[in-house]
Amino acid sequence: MTRFFSAETITQRLEQVYQTLPDSVRLIAVTKQVPVELMRVAYEFGIRDFGESRIQEAAQKQMQLQDLPDITWHLIGHLQSNKAAKAIELFQWIHSVDSLKLAQRLDQLAENQSVNLRTCLQVKVLPDPNKYGWSVSELLTDLPLLDQCKHLGISGLMTILPYGLDTSESLNAFTQTRALANQIQQQNWPHLQMEQLSMGMSEDYPLAIEAGSTMIRLGRTLFGER
Ligand SMILES: *Cc1c(COP(=O)(O)O)cnc(C)c1O
Repeated sequence: MTRFFSAETITQRLEQVYQTLPDSVRLIAVTKQVPVELMRVAYEFGIRDFGESRIQEAAQKQMQLQDLPDITWHLIGHLQSNKAAKAIELFQWIHSVDSLKLAQRLDQLAENQSVNLRTCLQVKVLPDPNKYGWSVSELLTDLPLLDQCKHLGISGLMTILPYGLDTSESLNAFTQTRALANQIQQQNWPHLQMEQLSMGMSEDYPLAIEAGSTMIRLGRTLFGER
């Protein structure tokens, strides 16, 4: 039994998603556990943004895909501080900056290695003990110190909704995330840009787009069940 879709189905899925996608929304193809042969199918379709959640897996895939030089790699999973240096080598975007400690570590590394990093701060507008990230009040408290992370390339917020919300609850949570980004933007911190909203996965991305998402992260709906 194959879990992943065929090359033909993946191409069809990509076509379907793109038909409904506003120009303002960037599609990140989430390829954790997806074999590189199927990543090549997405690449041939035109995908250049790939999301991975593990350092080791991304390192292996980058070796196998060396002939495709124009991929932008997005880290979307929790990052341990001791792997931050490796993450900076492998990824141009880190969506899952989820603590002040990690932010400060990445900032220091990005400065030392003069890399051009782009990041999102992971936030939970609803309490969710199973996920990493700042609560709204914690994030607001940490903003002055985050603003000192000049080399972190803070570009917006990222969120993953708790499991089991209905449609209106999901839309509401995405809208709250958008409002939080707006609120931070209006405070005019010199090093906190809020133009990106990384929100929306296979189950909920139409709602995320409705609420103003600029980056959706799709895995299963493109590639099949992991
Ligand atoms: C796995 C994952 C996704 C993709 O989830 P699907 O349900 O497969 O679309 C998106 N974001 C994060 C952070 C993930 O870990």
